[in-house]
Amino acid sequence: MGIKSFIVNLTPGPLVKVFAKPYIAGDSITSAIQTAKDFWDSRQVCSTIDLLGEELESDEEVEYTIDVYLRLIAELGRQKFSTISLKPTQLGSHRDEATCRENIRKIIEAAEEYAIPVTIDMEDHHFTDLTLNIYKALKPDFPTLGTVLQSRLFRTDQDILDLKGLNARIRICIGIYNEPREIALQHKNDMKKKMLEHVELLFKEGHYPEIGTHEEWLIRDSLELADKLNISKNGYEIQMLMGVPRQKITDELIRKGITVRLYVPFAEKWKHATNYCKRRLAANPMMAAYVAGNLLQTARGKK
Ligand SMILES: Cc1cc2nc3c(=O)[nH]c(=O)nc-3n(C[C@H](O)[C@H](O)[C@H](O)COP(=O)(O)OP(=O)(O)OC[C@H]3O[C@@H](n4cnc5c(N)ncnc54)[C@H](O)[C@@H]3O)c2cc1C
Repeated sequence: MGIKSFIVNLTPGPLVKVFAKPYIAGDSITSAIQTAKDFWDSRQVCSTIDLLGEELESDEEVEYTIDVYLRLIAELGRQKFSTISLKPTQLGSHRDEATCRENIRKIIEAAEEYAIPVTIDMEDHHFTDLTLNIYKALKPDFPTLGTVLQSRLFRTDQDILDLKGLNARIRICIGIYNEPREIALQHKNDMKKKMLEHVELLFKEGHYPEIGTHEEWLIRDSLELADKLNISKNGYEIQMLMGVPRQKITDELIRKGITVRLYVPFAEKWKHATNYCKRRLAANPMMAAYVAGNLLQTARGKK
């Protein structure tokens, strides 16, 4: 563990809570749905709602997670502004792949009743195979199912080629997890250049890329690429994290007729959110600086 990760891990929970506030939609299903609905009603911004929590190692916690997702789906109902996202390590990966797959299937079946698309998030490289195996096993039964690929991993070109014929909805992003140099790029700029290549490959392979980034040049280059390849505006979307200040480009994209979707995480139990935020702070200590800057801007009335 590096010195930055060590310090971040020592950050007290309440301080993490302050840092994380702009990025979390609250502590209930109702507040998460209300946040997503407000984004839609005010600016036609779509959402994907995610229950925080990961690396769960007890069956009780996994059952609790399933229960929250089922309640979320029932309360969300049939609507057009939000999908849901979930993580394999919340849903039984501590047991085995089959248990995890069947737990995820249960949630997708419930979501199907209301036509709510589901995305399986991607965690660190220990879970890439498991996640893709589950995705490929479930996709034929659930055509709207999506998953995530990370451009920093050397394996991603092949992973895209292996999706041939699946007509897949793939969130492509640089990846949040620090990965060893033997298997992954180490510099963000290289990851972003690679991500543009991955967007191109996804287009050419007939998939639906969900371009997950806050980097404006990467968004603009992706749009240019789509035009060059004659991809229609409903052949892809741009995704960002709730709380990252990108209102100007978001509104510009929506005016152009491009779907923009925000990641809207919530947690009923703060301990689940603390773990998530600490992990993100450890992986990206600059986040604390961004948040401090955002809070200062807000205090000065600039936002
Ligand atoms: C919708 C969505 C879902 C994601 N799902 C996954 C997933 O399943 N698995 C996974 O590994 N990763 C996931 N990620 C994270 C992703 O991989 C990146 O870590 C994250 O998007 C930051 O990369 P970036 O391309 O925005 O580049 P960065 O260089 O990190 O950011 C570009 C610019 O955006 C601004 N910015 C970035 N983050 C913040 C912030 N927190 N606060 C304020 N400003 C900020 C800064 O100005 C920065 O210079 C997801 C990201 C999004 C948007």
